[in-house]
Amino acid sequence: MTGNANPVMLTAMAIHQLSETIINQIAAGEVIERPASVVKELVENALDAGARRIDVATVGGGLNLIRVTDDGGGIAREDLHLAISRHCTSKLSDDINDIRSLGFRGEALPSIGSVSRMTIRSRTEMADAGYEISVDGGRVQAARPAAANRGTLVEVHDLFFATPARLKFMKGERAETTAINDVVKRVAIAFPNVHFTVSGPDRGALEMVGTSDPMQRIAQVLGKEFAENALAVDAQREGVRLHGHVSIPSFSRANALQQFAYVNGRPVRDKLIASAIRGAYADTLARDRHPVVVLFLQLDPADVDVNVHPAKADVRFRDPGLVRGLIIGAIREALAQAGIRPATGAGTSLAGAFRPGTGGFRGEEFNNGGFDADRSIHRPLEMSGGFGESAQARFDSAPAVSADSRAGSVAPAPDLLAHPLGAARAQVHANYIVAQTENSLIIVDQHAAHERLVYEALKNAMHARSLPSQMLLLPEIVDLPSDDVERLASHAQTLEKFGLRLERFGPGAIAVRETPAMLGEVDVQSLLRDLADEIADNDTVEALKERLDRIASTMACHGSVRSGRLLKPEEMNALLRQMEATPGSGTCNHGRPTYIELKLTDIERLFGRR
Ligand code: ADP
Ligand code: MG
Repeated sequence: MTGNANPVMLTAMAIHQLSETIINQIAAGEVIERPASVVKELVENALDAGARRIDVATVGGGLNLIRVTDDGGGIAREDLHLAISRHCTSKLSDDINDIRSLGFRGEALPSIGSVSRMTIRSRTEMADAGYEISVDGGRVQAARPAAANRGTLVEVHDLFFATPARLKFMKGERAETTAINDVVKRVAIAFPNVHFTVSGPDRGALEMVGTSDPMQRIAQVLGKEFAENALAVDAQREGVRLHGHVSIPSFSRANALQQFAYVNGRPVRDKLIASAIRGAYADTLARDRHPVVVLFLQLDPADVDVNVHPAKADVRFRDPGLVRGLIIGAIREALAQAGIRPATGAGTSLAGAFRPGTGGFRGEEFNNGGFDADRSIHRPLEMSGGFGESAQARFDSAPAVSADSRAGSVAPAPDLLAHPLGAARAQVHANYIVAQTENSLIIVDQHAAHERLVYEALKNAMHARSLPSQMLLLPEIVDLPSDDVERLASHAQTLEKFGLRLERFGPGAIAVRETPAMLGEVDVQSLLRDLADEIADNDTVEALKERLDRIASTMACHGSVRSGRLLKPEEMNALLRQMEATPGSGTCNHGRPTYIELKLTDIERLFGRR
C-alpha cells in the first residue's frame, strides 16, 4: 500500500479522502503535544464555560489518566456529539477577528479523543439528568444517561495509546506533572476568582483558592516574595492597555520561566513581549538574568491575531512597534519612579538603616556636595579621573597590600570629604571600600562598581569614537559553530568600535587580533561565545542602540575587577570619583547596589545615642 517495498515504483497512487480519525490524529500532532496540552485545553474549556471551580487529577504524569471537573454551564445532551466533532464550537460564529474566548477552533476534544480513551460527562442547569459520551481512539459511542452534577467532567485515559510514536517522546512522570502544574498556574493567574486544585498519586497537591484580589493569586503562584519585590505597571497607548507587576532588577532569575504574559486574558509565549521585557531591563540586568513579571495586555481583539498556531500560545500584533514601545516605556517608567531598590532580604533593622545607592546621586543626601549629576551624564569614563583605558592595568599593577592598615590612621583630606562618596579610608575583605563623607559612612562593592563603570564607559565611548584596543602578540584562533562565526563576522565592524578586532578564519573559526584595552586580560573564547549568543538572541528585533548597549554589557561582565583585588588608596579614591561622574553607577548591571550609605545620624541611632 505504501510503495516502500519498491522505491522506484512510478505508478500513481489514487488520491483518497482521509478518515475522520486520521484527520483528528494529524491535528492532535499539533494541538496535543504532551499531557500538559490536554490539561491546558480542558481547563480552557472549563473557563470558557464560566466555571468557578476546576479540579484537575492526574495519574502517571497524565499519561494514564487526566480528569478535569468543572462547575460551569455544561453541555446539553444534543450537543455532546458535536462537542467531539471536528470544527464544532459554541464560541466562534462568523468573525475570526473577534475572538473573546480561550477556545475557538473546535478541535481540542476531537483531537484528544482520537489519541486516547476519552469520556465526557456533563449536565446543564436546565437538564433533569446528566449524559455521557465516549471516544476510544477516534471511535465514538452514542451518548447515554449518567449521574452527574451541574458542570462537566472529562476523563482522558491512556493518552497516546493510539499514536505510539508520540508516546515514545514523553519525558517521564516527574517532568510531565511539573509541566501540568505550570500550565494550570499560568492560566490561573488570569482567573483569580476561580478555585483550582491539581491532585493525584503522581504528585504533591496544588490548591489555589479563588480570590477577588489578583495580587493574592499572583502570590499563590509565585510566592509572596514576588509581591514584596514587585513594582506595579499600568500604562495605556492608542487603545492598548498594559498592566501588571514587574520585579525590581535585584529580584531576578536565571531563566525566563517566571515571566507570565497575557493577551486579552490568554496566556501567551510571545517573542516580541519577551524581547521587550529584556529591552526594558537592558540597563539594569545582566544578559543572563531575567526579571519576574506578570503582564496583561488588553486590546481590541481585531488588533491581535491569535490564530497563528493550533496551541493558541502565539500571537501577532497588528502594530508590534506600539506594543513593544508600550512595554519598554511602562517598565522603565516604573523602575525609574521607584529608584532601584535592593531585594528584601533578612530585613534587619540594621540593614534598614543603610541606604542603597540609587544611581544618579540625586536627592537630598548629596545636596551639600554641590554635585550635579545631570551635567556629567555624557562624560566618557576615560576623560575623567584617569580611570579609563588603563583601569584594568592599574588594578593589575596594584601591589598586594591592603589599605586596611594604613589609610585609617591618617586624617582624610578635607576636600575629599566633600565629595558625594567621600574619601576612601580602607579596603576590607579585599572587596569593600570603606569611605567617609562629612556626615556618613560609605561602603562600596568594588567588583559591582567597576563592572558598572566599564559598562557605562563602553556605552559612552562607542557613540563618540572607537575604543582603544590592545593588540594580541599572536592572533587567537577560536573554533566556533559556523552560525556563530557568521554572526560575529557580520558584526565585525560594530565590534571593532569596542576595540575587538576579529575576522573569519575559515568556516568554523574566528581569528581575534585585538581586544578592548579596557577589559584587560580576557578569556577571548568565552567572550566570543557570549557575544555570538547575544547577537543570535537579538539580531532581528533589537534596535541598534539597544544591541550595542547589550554588547557593552556582555563585555563589561568579562572585564570587571574581580573582588579580591587589593587597591591602593589613590586607586580607591579614583574609583569613587569615577562613580560620581557616571550616571547609573549606583547599581551594577545586575541591579544590585554598588554602594551603601550609612548616615552618621543613623549610626548614632543604632548605638542608641539618639
Ligand atoms: P473549542 O474550545 O475551540 O470550541 P473544543 O473541542 O475544545 O473546541 O470544545 C468543543 C465545544 O465543546 C466547545 O465549543 C464547547 O461548546 C463544548 N465544551 C467543551 N468543554 C466544555 C466544558 N468543560 N463545559 C462546557 N462546554 C464545553
Ligand atoms: Mg477548547
